[in-house]
This record gives sequence, structure tokens and C-alpha cells, in this order.
Amino acid sequence: MAEAVVIQNRSELKTVTPMMKQYLEIKAEYEDYILFYRLGDFYECFFEDAVKASRVLDLVLTGRECGDGKRAAMCGVPFHKADVFIGKLVEQGYKVGICEQVEDPKQAVGLVKREVIRVVTPGTVTDADLLSDGQNNFLASVYCGKDSVALCFADISTGDVFTTHISGDDMLTRVKNELAAYMPSEAIINVHDEECNEIAEVLRERNALVNTGMKRLFAYDRCRELVRGVFEDEIDRLSTPEHVMAVGAMLAYIRETQKTDVTFAREINVYSKGQYLELDYNTRRNLELTESMKNKDKRGSLLWVLDKTKTAMGARLLRSWLLKPLLNPVQIVKRQSCVSDLVKNRMQRDELSELLYGMLDLERLTAKAVYGTANAKDLRSICISIERLPEIKSLLLEKCSAMKELAEKIDTLEDLADLLGKAIVDTPPHTVREGGMIRDGFNTDLDYYRSIKANGTDIMRSIEQREREETGIKTLKVDYNKVFGYYIEVTKSLIDQVPDRYIRKQTLTNCERYITGELKEMENTIFSADEKIVSIEFELFMGLKSVIAENNDRIRRTAALIAEIDVYRAFAEVADKNGYICPEVDLSHDLIIKDGRHPVVEKFVTDNYFVPNDTTLDVTDNKVMIITGPNMAGKSTYMRQVAIITIMAQIGSFVPARDARIGIVDKVFTRVGASDDLASGQSTFMLEMNEVANILKNATKRSLIIYDEVGRGTSTFDGMAIARSVVEYTYSKKIGAKTLFATHYHELTDMETQFPGIVNYNIAAKKRGDSITFLRKIVRGGTDDSYGIEVAKLAGVPNEVVKRAREILKDIESGAGVTVTDRTVKTADTVDLFSGFVSSVNDEVAEKLKEVDINTMTPIEAMNLLFELKRMLKD
Ligand code: ADP
Ligand code: MG
Repeated sequence: MAEAVVIQNRSELKTVTPMMKQYLEIKAEYEDYILFYRLGDFYECFFEDAVKASRVLDLVLTGRECGDGKRAAMCGVPFHKADVFIGKLVEQGYKVGICEQVEDPKQAVGLVKREVIRVVTPGTVTDADLLSDGQNNFLASVYCGKDSVALCFADISTGDVFTTHISGDDMLTRVKNELAAYMPSEAIINVHDEECNEIAEVLRERNALVNTGMKRLFAYDRCRELVRGVFEDEIDRLSTPEHVMAVGAMLAYIRETQKTDVTFAREINVYSKGQYLELDYNTRRNLELTESMKNKDKRGSLLWVLDKTKTAMGARLLRSWLLKPLLNPVQIVKRQSCVSDLVKNRMQRDELSELLYGMLDLERLTAKAVYGTANAKDLRSICISIERLPEIKSLLLEKCSAMKELAEKIDTLEDLADLLGKAIVDTPPHTVREGGMIRDGFNTDLDYYRSIKANGTDIMRSIEQREREETGIKTLKVDYNKVFGYYIEVTKSLIDQVPDRYIRKQTLTNCERYITGELKEMENTIFSADEKIVSIEFELFMGLKSVIAENNDRIRRTAALIAEIDVYRAFAEVADKNGYICPEVDLSHDLIIKDGRHPVVEKFVTDNYFVPNDTTLDVTDNKVMIITGPNMAGKSTYMRQVAIITIMAQIGSFVPARDARIGIVDKVFTRVGASDDLASGQSTFMLEMNEVANILKNATKRSLIIYDEVGRGTSTFDGMAIARSVVEYTYSKKIGAKTLFATHYHELTDMETQFPGIVNYNIAAKKRGDSITFLRKIVRGGTDDSYGIEVAKLAGVPNEVVKRAREILKDIESGAGVTVTDRTVKTADTVDLFSGFVSSVNDEVAEKLKEVDINTMTPIEAMNLLFELKRMLKD
């Protein structure tokens, strides 16, 4: 018979096998999930799911009879290893539904009943193995209204919930910034894809799974009910119906996916514009706050320098502080005083380190208890972590005055530590169904059955002794195996001495095995004691787990305090080790830094030492710094260092400087380098201008702006024109922000004499003969020396090219025009060939220019036109 065809498409089927019928019915309810269908010891995927899963999980694709004489594409994983495979799928942005047999196959009449008992999605994972320690895993709920957007971000593995409601002109930008800050792994959105294109795109770019068109989850009345049910009075803090819908839909989705109505959080963090320093995605990336631009790695980022936390909770908190610096000097100073305290008290800091080290992830462990996935190991981990609380509390109360207020809030949870300490053994097993979790002395019933079991072994030994004496068989043994239970073993040569009451059970090569009535009776007692032990232990464990779940509020609140303390300790350690100082923060507009350093670059400068530099910026006499200097001088480093020091100051950290006074900044913008975004298909110049447009639209007098080589992506003259016009606009009353502008166009240094408050600086370099030395020191005044040729030489450009470049430069500088030597290739012929074409393009461009009315154009339209004209010329 020919092998049946394997099909991947379910809809091709007409008549199906009973099993396949069941599968298809269940699958229909979980269309967008990869369904793991339990068959014996495997979970199987069929049809399209099988194709996807086999690709992601690297499994062999096979087939299974499904009806119509066809075979369904199939692949499967062993059930006891499923978690690893589920993890991989979820990591790749898939949702997985686990469909179990829900009745005992032995008792089932016909097909075994099956149901989806659990689903796992990227944003609702609670298994710590699938989550990264130092990072939150957020689910985003996005309500797109007519002219506003409400957002809710929830990490169900830690219980953090944030929500905000955004409206106004810059709405979309701010929504994108929020999404970029929280980096959710999954999102639910009320509207359909095409109605929220840009939002969905931003999410997908960051590899989030996006569920659009989820309107049903956002129904107001139900949302309200859900929010009230979970957060009780907290609902009053949600000031708009949009807030309620965003939070409510998030709850509805969690309920659907977790299939329980457990509460994972009780507090909602409602925030609004004006609470945090705003950083857009580009700025975060350019400043390498949490990952380096080159490797997308923590190493080489500011987080890498700062994150010396001891706990996962602390690491997550530090990261979130870094993405949301504060605006309120009072709050900042409060953080600083805690850090100062620990900078000064080295001993306390070390003691605290030791106590925090080994403190496990209380937030996620507690969440596991709440969701029911915790095992006895997890409870033990909670126990050894909370056992440290009293010591931490008294250390802070007695020796760290600045932390007193925090310390007083710590709930030492001694009742729970005591309970778990008495109940759970030191090294419990992974499984909860085989006993071995509960200590002796915790429960009298358990102790009783354990003693029976222990006695049983003793009794067996005494039976053995007696039987030896009675039969005279010295080598007789009472033993046990899983198949036959307890038995008496006699070697073959002695079997004629065996008494009649022995019942033969098994014959082996050298021996016979027997049982007796007495032996069986004992065996029953021991076995039932064993069963009893396992079931009592399980009940006790479930009880303990629910005690933890019931107390999750207390534990989480304390965990949050521990996280905060851990961050202060980390800031203190970093400050001490790297020689940072406590900046003064106030509401002035000044930014005064003495001997500032770049905290990350200084770690990488090994051949030399990092040269510190001063900064003076304000909104009067020192509003704009125009920074010139050769390539590689250190312009970009310097400008970033100013922004990073400002951000560090506003998260409460100390800063790498000798002295610093930071007037609070509301937004930091950077437009750095010519970073190509090939993936998005936009030209570099267009992107550059997009970013500039964004800055010009959103910056305020309180903002700090960094322009690094703006205008570089186009020809010299229009680049320079754009650069100058951007500086003028930023300088003007319309914005008036503190600005750092690095440029190659030394023509811009003219502006110093025309605009009070625009100041020229350059980063010094020295030419000695043919070579160049970078001094890395920022000094007053412009420079028109770009040393490009020297840098080219330094970089290893062939000597011939360097030499020729010098000749050409000399010609140009003397105004004589470039003289062509013999060796230079003549290009006149080729140009001739195209001259007709060139002029026709020029005509077209001229035509287009004549058509437009500049007076009615918006700046963006003008930019677009400019872009279009450039493109025509280029084509
Ligand atoms: P530019 O933007 O002027 O081309 P960069 O800021 O990119 O220069 O700096 C080039 C390199 O110079 C950096 O990678 C760093 O290694 C080194 N550098 C920059 N600033 C300093 C400094 N203040 N002290 C020591 N080395 C520095
Ligand atoms: Mg640069």
C-alpha cells in the first residue's frame, strides 16, 4: 500500500477520525496558540502547528492518520520535558496551549476527554526558568481611544503594575517612548492592526507578540468590575475610564491565560507626564543606558557600570530607575542621603552585602506560590531568604540613620520564616507527589506513619532472623523489589529445606523467591503507611503554599523595600570604587560639572587615563556649546558624558566628577552619529531629520539637547544650512534649551559673535610633524583644524592616498583649484556621456521647485520635498 499523503492544512479534511475531531474542536478555540495535545507520554502538535514547532524546536516532522486516508503533519515532545520546549516557543514569541487528558484513560469510555488546562504566553510567563533575573517581563495593555491612549504595563511574575493615560499633540511620540521604556514581551490592543499601525510596529520591532483587535477584553463595565475586584479602593486612583479599561483588559487577559482568578498585585502605580525625565528610544539607545549599541549587550552600558546589586529584585529596580529618572529634587535628595550613608559606612555596607547576597528572588517565588506552580524547594528558598530580614532590619535601624524610615517599614515575617523553617526540610525534592518535603516533628499524623514505615523495616529484619533460625538456612534473605514487593530469597542448593508455608513467587538462575502470609501482611501496612505519608505531605505542602499565597502582599511589600536598599547599596559601592561624588540637584537651569568623566568609556580607556573635563551650561550666557575638533578627539564622548551625568544625578546615583550641580532637566534628547537604519528601509538622512524634527517639536527650556554632527548626511552646503538653522531655532525663545552641538562645519563658530549665549569650544589636539596627539581636553574657542588626513594616516590609509590628499588640500586652500597629475584618472569622457541626462534631471527639479508654494508648507513637508529633490538628483 502506498504511504498516505501528509497534509499541513486542516481545512482540506472532509471526514476525520474521532481523535482528530476532538483535536480540531479544541484547536478551533485556540486558533492563535500552538496546541500541545497530550497523547500517551507525548504532547503532539498537528498540521500548521507541527510545521511551526518542528522548525523552532528542531523536531522531526512525521504524520498521523487523520481521516480521508490522509496523514496530518505531526511532531511531538515527551511530556516530562515539555517545559523546555514550551519555553523555547514562548521565547520566540509564540503562545502555547497545553491540552491534557482530564480523565483517567483506564476508566474512560471511548475517547479520553481532553481540555486545555494551561496556556503560556510571552507576557504571562510565571516560571522563573523562562524569565531573566534582572529584568521585568511586562505585558502591555493598550487602549487606543479617539484622541488619547491609555497604557497599562504589568509584570505578573513580580506584581508590578503601572498605568498612564496620554493625550495631546505629542501623544504618539510619548506612547512610543513608554513602550520603548517598558519593552513589553507581549501586548493586547483594543483596535485592529491597521488602526494602530505605528504602535504595533514599535512593539514588533522589539520582538513583542502583539494581539490586536482584542476589543472584547476592553468592555468598560466588565473592566470596572474586574479592577474593583482585584484592586478594591485603588480603583479611585484611576482617574479616567480609559485607565480603567487598560487595567481591566490586562486583568481579563491574565485571567484567561492563567485560568485562575488569583490576585497577583494590589497596588497600581498611576503616573502621568511630568513625573519622570522623558527619554525617547533613540536617546536611550544612543546613550547606551541599558545595552551597548554595538553588541546589544549589558556590557559596555551604564547599567553594566551601575548594577552591582546583590538580588534579582534590586537589579530589576535599578534598571527601571534608569529608564525613568526623577524630576523632583526632594525625592532625589532622599535617595542620595541613603546612598551617602552607605558610602560613608564601609563596614555596614559590607555587612549588608553579605545579608543581601543569597537573598533569593522573593517576588517571583511568591508569585509562584500565588499561581500554584511553586514546589517545596521554592518554599525553602522563601524561608532562607526571609530568615535574613530581622538582621537586615536591625542593621539599618541601628547603624544607618538615613535608612531608618525604610527599615521601619520592613516586615520581618518571622511568623512565616518560623512556619516554613519548622515545616520544610533543608533540601526538598523537585516533585511534590513523592514525599520527603516535611520535617519530622511538624505533624503528628505524619510522624506516626513514618514510624510505622521505619518499624516495618525493623520487623522485616526480625522476620529474616527468625526464618533463618527456623529453617536452618543461614543464607536466607528478606528483601524487596518494586515488582514483587517483599520476598524471601533462598539459594537453589538449599531449596529442599524450604518449609511448605512458603509460596513460590519467582525463579531465578541461582535462587528461588518466596512469600508468606505474614510477609504480605507487613508489606500492606508498610505500603499503606507510605501512601499515607505521601498524601499527608502533599496536603501539608499545599497548606503551606496557600499560607504564602495569602501573605503575598506582606512579602512583596518587604521585597520591594529590599530591592530599594539593594540599589542604594549598589550605588554606594559603585560611587566608592569609582570615585564618584554626590551632585547637588536643584530646580535651577544650571548644569555645572567640574572634572566630569564618562562612566563607561573611562572603564575602557586602558592605555591612557581618562581626561576629565568641565561643563558650564545654563539658559543665559552658556546656552549652546558649539564643539569643533578633529575626528576621534572625543567630542561624542564628552557630550554623552554630560547627558549621562545628568541622568545619573536624577536617578539618585553619585556621579563621576569632582563637583557637580545639576538643575533638573525634563527631557534629554540626543541625535548622535550617522546611525544607519537599514532594516527600516529609511535613508540615513531622512532618519536623521526625523529625529531632529522630533527634538524641535518636543524640547523645552528645561531640556538638554545633544546634536552630534547634524546635517552630515547630505551635501556640505545644505548640511551646513540645516545645522545652522537648527541651532538658531534651538537657541531661540521657542525652545531655549541647554544644547551641545558637535560639528565639522567650523563655519558655525561665527555664531558666537552674533548670538550671546552661544559659546565655542574645541577639543584640543596637537600636530607634531606628520602625526597628531589627542589631548582630550575641552577648551574655549573654535578650531578649523580637522586633521582628517592625519587621522586617515593613523587609521592606515595607504601612504600614496595620504600624500595625494595633502597635495589636494594645499591646492584647495590656496584657492588655485586642484591640479591633476598624470596618475590621476581622467573622468571627463564619462561625464560627457551623462551630461544630457543630468540636465534633464535638473530641469525636472527646477520644475518641481517652481510648482511649490513655500508659504503654505509645513517644515516637515519642506523636509520631505528637499528629500525628494535630493533623491531625484541622486537617481
Ligand atoms: P569624536 O566624536 O570627536 O570623533 P569620540 O568621542 O568618538 O571622538 O572619541 C574617540 C575615542 O577617544 C573614544 O573611543 C575614547 O577611547 C577616546 N576618548 C574620548 N574622550 C576621552 C577622554 N576624555 N579621555 C581619554 N580618552 C578619551
Ligand atoms: Mg563623534
